Amino acid sequence: MLNFIWDGEKGMLYNNLSGYLRKTYNKRLKKICIDGGFYCPNRDGTVSFGGCIFCGERGAGEHIQNRKKSIIEQVDAELKKGKEDDLFIAYFQNYTNTYADTETLKKRYDEALCDKRIVILSVGTRPDCINEETADLLASYKDRVDVWVELGLQSSKNDTGRLINRGYDTDVFDRAVKILKDRDIKVIAHMIVGLPGESMADAQNTAKYIAKADIFGIKIHSIYVMEGTKLAEMYRENLYTPPTLSEFAETVATIIGYLPEDLVIHRLTGDCPRDMLVAPEWNTDKHKILDEINRCLTEKNISQGSLIEKSKP
Ligand code: SF4
Repeated sequence: MLNFIWDGEKGMLYNNLSGYLRKTYNKRLKKICIDGGFYCPNRDGTVSFGGCIFCGERGAGEHIQNRKKSIIEQVDAELKKGKEDDLFIAYFQNYTNTYADTETLKKRYDEALCDKRIVILSVGTRPDCINEETADLLASYKDRVDVWVELGLQSSKNDTGRLINRGYDTDVFDRAVKILKDRDIKVIAHMIVGLPGESMADAQNTAKYIAKADIFGIKIHSIYVMEGTKLAEMYRENLYTPPTLSEFAETVATIIGYLPEDLVIHRLTGDCPRDMLVAPEWNTDKHKILDEINRCLTEKNISQGSLIEKSKP
């Protein structure tokens, strides 16, 4: 039995994270977003100095309030807001959370897993920062918690990867997925809809690529132009125009159609702090975005996986 969102009239549309968590843990889980004090090889010169063109100075997780505190303090602050029977996900969000030696990684993950109410360790990282040793360490936590690794792919098109200064090609993503899957670690791929130079077909191809990887989940982000990024410069120089809300929603609806039913959809939007958003304005209204995606799904009679047969040659 899958965990599809029910639209009330047309039936089940997609397999979302809250449904998965409810089914697995019998309740909603609270996410603790952690700045683990890591940095990124795409910013420190190891891969590049510029970083991905959409990435802000804080390496995602701009909203984290407690980032200057220690990991234990950050986690503790969130645990205190919860109840005795609440369950939590410890999510290492900012920058590249496997970019350190194993000893350092272990110390930081151990600090985060300081309470038995934390049942999932989720680590956001770059595929080029996954190796056998890191994966062994991550796998060692599986007897205590569920372990998720979130890999930033963004696009399956290597030309786009170069344009956004991603710093690796898709074979690196494939290798990281294999290393993690060999250890039964759940992998979540991130993709962005609306990247510079990409068509709806390019975004659909990325979704099909992720579908083929046979992993646990996907996060679909709407592109946004954030203050202080290279993308903001491109936008102001008229070198980049973000998609409209209806273009975005239509693309996401078809992407959902190309995803296998058991792939858990963790996210369908992107979060940019209001005061840092340059464009598009519609990115501020998450409910409106989700409504628009649901409207497209219903109008086109698409539900998760419903386009897979039609996509076969
Ligand atoms: S890999 Fe992540 S943290 Fe590093 S520049 Fe790209 S988006 Fe930012």
